[in-house]
Amino acid sequence: MSQPDLPIFDLAPRLRSRTFLPIAKRPTPVQPLHGFGERVFVKRDDLVSDVYGGNKVRRWEWLLGRAKDRGVETLVTVGGTGSTQVTSLTAHGGRAGFEVVGVLFDQPWSPFVEEALELDQRFGGTVIRGGGYARTALLTLQQMATRKRAMLVPPGASGPLANLAYVDALLELAQQVERKELPRPDRIVVACGSGGTTVGLAVGAAMLGWPTVVVGVRITELVASNSLTLGALTSATESLLRKEGFRSSRRVWNGARPQMDHRFVGAGYGHSTPAAAREAIRFESLFGAPGEVTYSGKALAALATIAAEHPRENMLLWNTLSTTGRSHA
Ligand SMILES: *Cc1c(COP(=O)(O)O)cnc(C)c1O
Repeated sequence: MSQPDLPIFDLAPRLRSRTFLPIAKRPTPVQPLHGFGERVFVKRDDLVSDVYGGNKVRRWEWLLGRAKDRGVETLVTVGGTGSTQVTSLTAHGGRAGFEVVGVLFDQPWSPFVEEALELDQRFGGTVIRGGGYARTALLTLQQMATRKRAMLVPPGASGPLANLAYVDALLELAQQVERKELPRPDRIVVACGSGGTTVGLAVGAAMLGWPTVVVGVRITELVASNSLTLGALTSATESLLRKEGFRSSRRVWNGARPQMDHRFVGAGYGHSTPAAAREAIRFESLFGAPGEVTYSGKALAALATIAAEHPRENMLLWNTLSTTGRSHA
């Protein structure tokens, strides 16, 4: 794939000189989402790659570019046993020529967890069972110390550079709004773990002067994901953009203020709730691949509630869970 002409390059021109590994199929489709009200659309980032889609793909383009620059050979990453990040990195990191090692902490079992483990193997990743958080951390350090030219990709992999992926994705959405494929959303609902997706979208909307509210639906523990972590990621992302040439005087700029909705997480990361279980089933009927309770079930549960609370708003679900490369296919 040749270097795509991303809309973010126009706003922050120095980004053009970064090493960027084109993986994503863009733009991802937008379409009405039936069953949530008249004004609800969905952005299909599940379709961002035929190999394995979902919201990590856009971020790998930047992070794997950086890894190439640094001469990295092995990517060491950490996640739950059903981590979509570990699956996505084994798929895309492996194809880009890296060796990928995932150290996995225990999470509640589900058919999706089993599928994820199967995919990690199929995509050629090396998977190490970490057990609890402490032993997982220890084994991760051990891998970092013993592997050749290793780079750590932390859980969630958010960070200023990675977050640019979703600043750009929001600009991609703006082009779709301009082409009248959907109305400009008043509110965007997205699953929020490490926060990079939520923050990137919110920063992108702020750069355009959109009044759109970006709501991150918290799917993990409060210590790891809260308004402070979102705020810190937001300012770090905004500083990087300024460093890369973004001049706020060119646009309306009030700074981004992503919101977080804490109501749907239940007992914590990977733990089901009645609403998430119900919505995981609806996910399959909407998108044609099995849903799960960690990300998609909770995001849809939140969307159902939030859409009912704001019936007159144009709303967008940003779907983050891959429907491609899954074992059902
Ligand atoms: C990583 C991930 C998220 C959360 O994204 P963050 O940027 O870490 O907040 C949501 N859904 C899926 C399927 C993911 O893999």
